[in-house]
Amino acid sequence: MAEITIKGTTKLLGVIGHPVEHSLSPVMHNAALSELELDYVYLPFPIAPENLEVALSGFAAIGLVGFSVTIPHKQAILPLLSSISPIAQAVGAVNTVSRKDNKWVGTNTDVEGFIAPLQTTYNRDWSHTTAVILGNGGAARAVVAGCIQLGCKEIYTVGRNLQKLEEFRNSWDNSPNLHVSTWDKLPQLIPQATLLVNTTPIGMYPKIEESPLSLEEMQNLPQNAIAYDLTYNPSPTKFLSLAQQQGLIAIDGLEMLVQQGAAALKIWLNRDIVPASVMSLALRKHLGLTMI
Ligand code: NAP
Repeated sequence: MAEITIKGTTKLLGVIGHPVEHSLSPVMHNAALSELELDYVYLPFPIAPENLEVALSGFAAIGLVGFSVTIPHKQAILPLLSSISPIAQAVGAVNTVSRKDNKWVGTNTDVEGFIAPLQTTYNRDWSHTTAVILGNGGAARAVVAGCIQLGCKEIYTVGRNLQKLEEFRNSWDNSPNLHVSTWDKLPQLIPQATLLVNTTPIGMYPKIEESPLSLEEMQNLPQNAIAYDLTYNPSPTKFLSLAQQQGLIAIDGLEMLVQQGAAALKIWLNRDIVPASVMSLALRKHLGLTMI
């Protein structure tokens, strides 16, 4: 892999967040840029919420090609953009911004990232699938949009706060097959859940012994169920190792992270193909995860 050499001609990409020091995006994007031997570099930009608007003007002034958006700017940036893709509007959040005709345009590649491993590796007739999504935060919104895009028969979002659940449900128009439910209803949903997605942080490093579902609960899942955890560290999580013990398909969050990044890089570089496997390898190495 070639080294990135910064010159006067080097084009800039980056990620905005607050804090942003722990973002994994520079690792995977710089690995891809270096593999492609392009005169680009991808930088972390710590931008406080009150500086978001001025940061956008500054980025325009220095000719930044595009940037990723992370917490806390994913919703706040919406009114500052010239246009927002329909998928980002549906999710209600932007994670990728690019410069088109001297204007900032926003989209959301988390949905593409979420469905990528489902479509490429485990493709099935999703119109028979009942999806059960644990958690109703920001990532759950991308997962719901992904399940709608796949054409899932029924989609249940499970949360612990009834008011937040109702707001979540009301924010989706024209989705009669989307339902919300509290955790106590989970035992009724598990036997139908052919796609079970954990979007809560339960089981994330360092609380790696936790799982949103117990072994007994996992045993009630259908035999052909897919368990998908958005967490990527550890890999597998306790939730996924319980699923594997049942002989179920288990997908961790690393591929989603890689594929949402790859989708963003395709937009910025205007390319159909980017080296996603190089991005994945760089992340695994950085996180000290087992190489597969
Ligand atoms: P978020 O907006 O804070 O949402 C977290 C959700 O989990 C909320 O609904 C929260 O419930 C629920 N929750 C938190 N702790 C819980 C607990 N102990 N019991 C039950 N529910 C609990 O966070 P997010 O942005 O959606 O991210 C969620 C997870 O997804 C994180 O682990 C993140 O790293 C991961 N993620 C991965 C990717 C990827 O590319 N792989 C992308 C995005 C996010 P309340 O609302 O009631 O607090």
